[in-house]
Amino acid sequence: MTPTTTVNEKAAGLRGLLDGEVATPGDASWDEARRAWNLAVDQHPAAVVYPESADDVVAVVRYARENAFHVTTQGTGHFANTLASLENTILVKTSRTRRLEIDPEARIARAEAGVLWEEVSLAAAEHGLAGLAGSSPDVGVVGYTLGGGLGWLARRYGFAANSVVAVELVTADGRRVRADRDTEPDLFWAVRGGGGSFGIVTAIEFALYPVSEVYAGILFFPFERTSEILNAWREWVEDTPVEVTSAGRLMQFPPIPQVPEQLRGQSFVLVEAAYIGSEEDGAALLQPLRELGPVLDTFAMMPVEDLRHLHMDPTEPVPGVGDGMALADLTPETVNALVAVAGPCSGSPLVSVELRQLGGAVGEESPDHGAVGSLDAGFVLFAAGMAVHPETTSFIHARVEALKAALAPWVADRVQFNFSDTPVDGESLYSPETYRGLQWVKAAYDPGELFRASHPIRPAAAA
Ligand SMILES: Cc1cc2nc3c(=O)[nH]c(=O)nc-3n(C[C@H](O)[C@H](O)[C@H](O)COP(=O)(O)OP(=O)(O)OC[C@H]3O[C@@H](n4cnc5c(N)ncnc54)[C@H](O)[C@@H]3O)c2cc1C
Repeated sequence: MTPTTTVNEKAAGLRGLLDGEVATPGDASWDEARRAWNLAVDQHPAAVVYPESADDVVAVVRYARENAFHVTTQGTGHFANTLASLENTILVKTSRTRRLEIDPEARIARAEAGVLWEEVSLAAAEHGLAGLAGSSPDVGVVGYTLGGGLGWLARRYGFAANSVVAVELVTADGRRVRADRDTEPDLFWAVRGGGGSFGIVTAIEFALYPVSEVYAGILFFPFERTSEILNAWREWVEDTPVEVTSAGRLMQFPPIPQVPEQLRGQSFVLVEAAYIGSEEDGAALLQPLRELGPVLDTFAMMPVEDLRHLHMDPTEPVPGVGDGMALADLTPETVNALVAVAGPCSGSPLVSVELRQLGGAVGEESPDHGAVGSLDAGFVLFAAGMAVHPETTSFIHARVEALKAALAPWVADRVQFNFSDTPVDGESLYSPETYRGLQWVKAAYDPGELFRASHPIRPAAAA
């Protein structure tokens, strides 16, 4: 290649090296190829590739090394907000590798990198089993799990990353590696919570749990009762068993056709919860909140796979702008601070402000855990709006920042990876000891920073 060869011409050299499709600027498919699930993000990589196999991934990594590109990977682009520049970067989209196998005897699932949580939830449920899915049906299993993974069964079974039993990756030197407790144990530790900085995951294996039904639903209360209901929920969670995972939430449904008619354009304060147990016990647990007189009560026994719709997450791409933080504690003063910035009368543009209950298995330490470890915090907050018009982005962003500032007195030591929806360095997400460990693994597997990832880990400096 001559010195004047452009980045795009260089990237086009990928064509013919793999079975999967390669898209570069100027192609008819380019705008579709570079689009992320989060439509608020405008991605400009040098090329987009859709591998059909792990060998295709090896070909991309080798080509990138030889031609001085970086590589980044997306399952869906739900977390595209968190990526820094994609300049000189090949974007690997895993959406075409979708094989999913369930071993019901061993209670293990093996998912290729493009598999979505909904696919796992439905397939596992056929065997009376459940994986540790999050609230959204169409989030990628790999991206979610590498960042920790907090879902409706979290207080009982912990972070999804800590249920991983093996990860298949292509490393920066173009090797196909299977990392588990005995083989490449440092890499295995790092990817379970350290994100996508260490390689391109081509498949992941994780434990499933014997849960087929849950008592779950939502209590809807008028928005004006936000303080009262959040305080009642705050008191309620003080002694709920680990079989309950719940959220207190402010919801201002946008007036769009995707929202059911009876909720469209309306605002509520909600309590959402899932209980692993019987209807009788679940109803008894819920009774104090029911007595507050919700305007709508959807609690019932449901197949565990139906939890994928409990949180009413959008199932189509949307322009989301949001961020989160972890709170050590939730007091009446915390609720007051939240209501002042995001409650009724605040003029808040935020569609959703939620507080998820932590504790239980999420807070338990174990030497078997990956880098995600445990989270020593009482709650995670996530607040988001929809930038339907690009000019509203800064307005929404400012309100999210104002909310975080108002809640700063109760902030926990660190925010959880998956709930940090802006580009931050990995350093702010881990204890100093864990971050140093991640840096050493990065230095061992990708010292030249071939891989660009959400919340990147920087390699430890050579001694
Ligand atoms: C509507 C919504 C609901 C959510 N609910 C929850 C929830 O309940 N609990 C929770 O914990 N999180 C939740 N999240 C956060 C979510 O887990 C992260 O956004 C996660 O990164 C999504 O994974 P993805 O693969 O779909 O996203 P992507 O944007 O495609 O990937 C995110 C990052 O993961 C890495 N990555 C992805 N695939 C690979 C791969 N094959 N190899 C190496 N690295 C890879 C990359 O660094 C990439 O930048 C939610 C997000 C949204 C938008």
